[in-house]
Amino acid sequence: MLECTPFRGSIPTLNDSALFRAVIRIHHHIRIRRRSGATVELRITEIFHSLQGEARSVGRPTVFVRLTGCPQRCVWCDTEYAFQGGQKWSLDDILETVDGYGAGYVTVTGGEPLAQPNCLPLLTLLCDRGYEVSLETGGAMDIAAVDERVSVVMDLKAPGSGEQHNNRLENIPLLRPNHQVKFVLADRRDYDWARFMLDQHQLARRVSDVLFSPVQGQLAPTDLADWIVRDRLPVRFQIQLHKLLWNDAQGR
Ligand code: SF4
Repeated sequence: MLECTPFRGSIPTLNDSALFRAVIRIHHHIRIRRRSGATVELRITEIFHSLQGEARSVGRPTVFVRLTGCPQRCVWCDTEYAFQGGQKWSLDDILETVDGYGAGYVTVTGGEPLAQPNCLPLLTLLCDRGYEVSLETGGAMDIAAVDERVSVVMDLKAPGSGEQHNNRLENIPLLRPNHQVKFVLADRRDYDWARFMLDQHQLARRVSDVLFSPVQGQLAPTDLADWIVRDRLPVRFQIQLHKLLWNDAQGR
């Protein structure tokens, strides 16, 4: 049986700021655990704050939430480190971390974020908190259940990616005016295919921006820019800003 000894020290007051902060942290931790429960989790590779590197929000301070895992294997993928590993995070811990950066814009990316079903409630919770939210998805997963406040940035994979066969064309009628479609192009054949898709599906009328981007080191940016100008395509040319600034370093 445990024996209780009387407390003989002075009783700390709430004016003791170190103790107060510790109590608040413990209380907050308990509250998060109670709210999140054991099952609402996502596997996360990284959460970081940087500048948006592409799409129509390029240059904006952004918090990136990178989910782990992807069912595709694009030959030029630049985020292979997100295929495996990562850590399990509760939704509440993710939201608390995002809040800590104080940015107004959040991009949920991957890997393929929609491969984890709990991505959907994360997107909704971020919108509910007042964030502008974009979702970068590879185009193979169903976007029907994504919160309508989210700007979906959906890839259509060109032949040079090796993943063209996985494009989920059923997503195209689901595209909305706040969405964006992205083509990453490795060569002239990819460009001609993208131009065909642009016309056949009237993509520029469906979404706010159609983005054409060269594969770094494979297609000269000036060639792609010249083709777009010559053909008067209603698309936005882009070079990934984070690669120019930080040479694609992880977490930047
Ligand atoms: S869909 Fe994205 S993350 Fe997946 S292999 Fe392709 S480029 Fe990489």
